[in-house]
Amino acid sequence: MRSIRRGDTGVAVSEIRSILVGLELLETAETDVFDEALETAVRAFQQNRGLGIDGMVGDETWGALDAARWRLGSRNLFHSVPDALVGEDVRALQERLLEMGYDTGRPDTVYGARTARAVAQFQREVGLAPDGSCGPQTMKALRRLGRKVVGGRPQWLREAEAFRQSGPNLVGKTIVIDPGHGGGDDTGVLVPDGPLRWNEADLVFDLASRLEGRLSAAGMRVHLTRGPSPAAPMSGAARAALANTLGADLLISLHLDGHSSPSAEGVATYHYGTGNGLSSTVGERLANLVQREIVVRTGMHDCRTHAKGWDLLRLTRMPTVRVDLGYLTNPGDRERLIDPMFREQIVEAMLAAVQRMYFPVERDVPTGSIDVRQLRLALAEKS
Ligand SMILES: [Zn+2]
Repeated sequence: MRSIRRGDTGVAVSEIRSILVGLELLETAETDVFDEALETAVRAFQQNRGLGIDGMVGDETWGALDAARWRLGSRNLFHSVPDALVGEDVRALQERLLEMGYDTGRPDTVYGARTARAVAQFQREVGLAPDGSCGPQTMKALRRLGRKVVGGRPQWLREAEAFRQSGPNLVGKTIVIDPGHGGGDDTGVLVPDGPLRWNEADLVFDLASRLEGRLSAAGMRVHLTRGPSPAAPMSGAARAALANTLGADLLISLHLDGHSSPSAEGVATYHYGTGNGLSSTVGERLANLVQREIVVRTGMHDCRTHAKGWDLLRLTRMPTVRVDLGYLTNPGDRERLIDPMFREQIVEAMLAAVQRMYFPVERDVPTGSIDVRQLRLALAEKS
């Protein structure tokens, strides 16, 4: 779908306006024009949800707006098959249950089997019929009890514990590498350079293939989300679904960045998190390790690690990190990225970060200090 943006008019614009009025981000829905006030409201909404902030309504922002229509208690919630109910009301329910110690999985806005099981467990414990759906009775019990319970964020502790229990070894772990974009005309950032045209999709595929080779050599099971030239573009949600189906232990998504100003440069990493202070602790650790290893080993500008609510980060069930490996629009970053030797260095840094993820914290080593050749020797000795 083409993004709906400033200057557009019509039914879709009225609908966006009325949702944002409902969220108290916009004053009036009595026009169908995408005006300046609406653009400001869309930006505020995007910032609040951890989405890319461009003031336009594309697929991902539309999905988040659509979900935002629902307030908890405004409809009955249940596990609908095959099309699950999705909405902010589901997220509110999930967050409330998580705070009370019930395992709904990530608060991902989707009323799936795991959420239904958590609701049934709650119902059993408060003496309601455990049907796993959330109607007026269950809502009443939640309102009554929900406020009394104060707790940590058990989901992230569970995720950290599950990761710890999977053991300190790369061998046999499944990792999904996601080269961004690709398919149809989705080339990502595209930069003409004399007779050449550098594009993000091809460069991140090259990086993904190199990383695949190194991680396989270290004994991991590695899957790529796409080939070098897929037939059609792939959404973040489809990439997440693929990694979930594979039961991956980790996912690393690779992108390059672009900016209208050629002076924008550097590397940034992203993990799942929302404005409510919910954050994947394991994802954050992986993001920090990747960020630090790359910055220390390459000297690229440090654009730091950030929490985002993007589909790919939100819908995956394993620690997931997206890395933006420099700006293709920056002459310095570009010159380095098009050099295969430099790409090899980046791959080395990511390999070291993944290795460190599996070291027990007390045996962690300083950034930049793992010699991946020695690592290979150590592995060879073991087998
Ligand atoms: Zn990209």
